[in-house]
Amino acid sequence: MDFLVLFLWYLAFILVTVILICICSKTPRLKGLAQEGAQCWDCKRMLPYLANNHIFIVLHLVLQGTVYVEYTWEILGYCQDLEFSLSYLLLPYLLLIVNLVFFTLTCVTNPGTITKADELLFLQVYEFDNVMFPQNARCSTCDLRKPARSKHCSVCDRCVHRFDHHCVWVNNCIGAWNTRYFLTYLSTLTVSTATIAAVSAAFLVHLVMVSDLYQEMYLDDLGRLQEMDFVLIIQYLFLSFPRIVFLLGFVLVLSFLLGGYLCFVIYLAATNQTTNEWYRGDWTWCQHCPLVARSQSADPKVYRNIHSRGLWSNLGEIFLPALPYYQKKKK
Ligand SMILES: [Zn+2]
Ligand SMILES: [Zn+2]
Repeated sequence: MDFLVLFLWYLAFILVTVILICICSKTPRLKGLAQEGAQCWDCKRMLPYLANNHIFIVLHLVLQGTVYVEYTWEILGYCQDLEFSLSYLLLPYLLLIVNLVFFTLTCVTNPGTITKADELLFLQVYEFDNVMFPQNARCSTCDLRKPARSKHCSVCDRCVHRFDHHCVWVNNCIGAWNTRYFLTYLSTLTVSTATIAAVSAAFLVHLVMVSDLYQEMYLDDLGRLQEMDFVLIIQYLFLSFPRIVFLLGFVLVLSFLLGGYLCFVIYLAATNQTTNEWYRGDWTWCQHCPLVARSQSADPKVYRNIHSRGLWSNLGEIFLPALPYYQKKKK
């Protein structure tokens, strides 16, 4: 029982921490705290080093491999004994293959690096809004004119067209040419995690139903006969199948986190925004931010998303980002 309580506290702690980070990362106070921390630990030097290597790719593959080994080693065998549908049991493997293909594509595809040779071409792709993306701005590091919607990635040290963010899990920027792969990779990762969670939960529920565990009686500390309750069933399952219950807890938390993030990414895709624009646009909209208030009093400019042209057009821009498409659209 102690271990079960500890496990639930552990899950709750992770969830609350993640939620607090998500909420507080938008407040100036935490941003200031993070900046102070960065100066103390010299993160400006350390973060690019930590981010621009393959540690997170290896960690990603190790975690994914561990989940699939546990699934294959224990859950699959038990479920076959309980005569679960084979197509249902093999679905996570199909999703894994698709996921690894798109994971590799996201890692190795050029996200849209801007060079001297194609600088002019990129400059013609998007309109300048002169609020978030002013005309004639230059990147001081690359010494290139900044096309609208581009950003210099400090980790990769390059300017990227339609820059979304730098993803440490694929060790690459997410930009105009690999957002489609990233979206498919994230979708298959979420669905495969949710499928493993569903199979594991179905197995445990099936086990409880088949064994009539919920109808059993037990003796409490005072020697009285009591009916089995939900907590005791969980405790029994945890003691009998500790790795499966732990796996279920892990993939459940992961499914919710990935699902939430996937919804956010789909929202950005549907409204033709990048994470960079959403984050910076959010600050521009913020009336209480002293920096924004100062700039508004001098020149009242409000950021508006001028790139959205309807759902299908927005999605088409992500899934068909070839240069001829842009040029045709511009004409
Ligand atoms: Zn640059
Ligand atoms: Zn990058």
